[in-house]
Amino acid sequence: MRVLIVDDSSVMRKIVARGLRQADFQIDEILEAGNGQEGLDVLNGPNGKVDLILSDWNMPIMDGLTFIKNVRGGSPDINKIPIAMVTTEGGESKVEAADAAGANGHIKKPFTPDMLKEVLGKFMK
Ligand SMILES: [Mg+2]
Repeated sequence: MRVLIVDDSSVMRKIVARGLRQADFQIDEILEAGNGQEGLDVLNGPNGKVDLILSDWNMPIMDGLTFIKNVRGGSPDINKIPIAMVTTEGGESKVEAADAAGANGHIKKPFTPDMLKEVLGKFMK
């Protein structure tokens, strides 16, 4: 199981990574990207095969919503990867916009390992 965490805060990427480990998921590798464009670069790179993407919403250069749209419009290698939004944006219209773009789940900050289990369990092997 490989997971890509996309967030412009390196501290938040570490918090998310720690949460995943505390949730007892069997994770072989965690990849990180600092915005949507970097996330696309990782996914389209030679070592970019991942099983799950966790993405922030607000990021410079390319935000989370645009990132989702690009992944879903991307190559067959990447366009079906589950994407969960990890965000403070709990507004219903934002959630709907993310879902319409192809998001598969939502995790609100701050989160607990149990919350990660509940939202992400179905995507984890
Ligand atoms: Mg952010």
